[in-house]
Amino acid sequence: MATTTMNGSDLTALEACPPEVREIFHAARSGAELTFEQGLLLATAEGSALDALVAVADQLRREAAGGVITYVVNRNINFTNVCFVGCRFCGFGRGPGAADAYTLSFEEVVRRACEAWDRGATEVCVQGGLPRDLDGFFYRDLLRAIKYAIPGMHVHAFSPMEIDYGVLKTGMALRDYLQMMKDEGLGSIPGTAAEILDDRVRKELSPNKLPARRWVEIITAAHELGIPTTSTMMYGHVEDPADWVRHILLLRTIQKRTGGFTEFVPLGFIHENTRLYHHGGARPGAKREEHLRVHALARVLLHRAIQNLQVSWVKLGFEMSLACLQAGANDFSGTLMEESISKAAGATFGEYVSPEEFRARIRSIGRVPAERTTTYKIRRIFDDPEQDLQTAAAQLPMVRAEKHVTYSEGAY
Ligand code: SF4
Repeated sequence: MATTTMNGSDLTALEACPPEVREIFHAARSGAELTFEQGLLLATAEGSALDALVAVADQLRREAAGGVITYVVNRNINFTNVCFVGCRFCGFGRGPGAADAYTLSFEEVVRRACEAWDRGATEVCVQGGLPRDLDGFFYRDLLRAIKYAIPGMHVHAFSPMEIDYGVLKTGMALRDYLQMMKDEGLGSIPGTAAEILDDRVRKELSPNKLPARRWVEIITAAHELGIPTTSTMMYGHVEDPADWVRHILLLRTIQKRTGGFTEFVPLGFIHENTRLYHHGGARPGAKREEHLRVHALARVLLHRAIQNLQVSWVKLGFEMSLACLQAGANDFSGTLMEESISKAAGATFGEYVSPEEFRARIRSIGRVPAERTTTYKIRRIFDDPEQDLQTAAAQLPMVRAEKHVTYSEGAY
């Protein structure tokens, strides 16, 4: 293994740990795959053991990714908030008759994608609610419309829940449906809708959502067809640390089989506008120590399996994101330009951050910013702060034009 060193206070924290925890850190640093029991000990780390976990995770991050923190210039397009699924943790979905229900037209989605492209974005992340009356080929046609207008844009789109819905609506076999989407230019799939991959927990979060084994089946089939995906986990609600460990180890097993995950993204539960918090007995999201624990745990358990660990700044805010980037994470996610889902659930962080601001924040913790593609090819390393000014891009205005427009098949 690469020999990276720990500083004095990290070593003190390590020495203050119980011997069985020290042994686990030693195993992790030597490249051993940790077991469920070992993971569980780390997932409940407190005090000096938590300090040591963070230090070891940061060391493993350095081994995997060096001193660079990556980000992607992208735009989120949440094309509709109409949804029948009714996840109890969701503040975004609406019934079709709700006063604030919206569906963007294809033209509007394409306009937003073109605007993003003109401002330097390389990716659009396209997801939405699930309306009951969706046409079977809606996702294909929306993808086709974007790729027709901007062939070079990476379309990162349609969660496993949406893929499952597309399969159901078209009556196609899963692999045929995924192959069709790949042929139409689908670049990658967000590994959202994972929440916690355990049906006992999923029943509490969202009884209508696809079961864990279907999530795994869709993700695995996508990987086998050469469509990469991200992986996620929602924490800070009704789950416990054993659920984190089982979830992360399941992702590790999939990755060992397929190699198709580009990254792992822990998603802190935003509780404010959700039924799960108000009526479901959920915790009000994670506090600082839990955020650090989850990110550090993920780095240690996924070491040498999933190389990239991403912070979700929309959910964490910047201060906590920077702390997690010093606790094992190496990717700052995307500039986004707009994001409706976390905001609807009560997140108060901004909708758009310029690449310059990303770079300044990355430099503030002594790391080097680098813009990447969706699949982690480095586009440019900004090792000279002077370059930031020369590449300043104009900021996009906030987008608030959301009105209901009926989908018409074959518009593109
Ligand atoms: S999380 Fe997605 S599927 Fe669930 S209710 Fe919200 S929009 Fe619908």
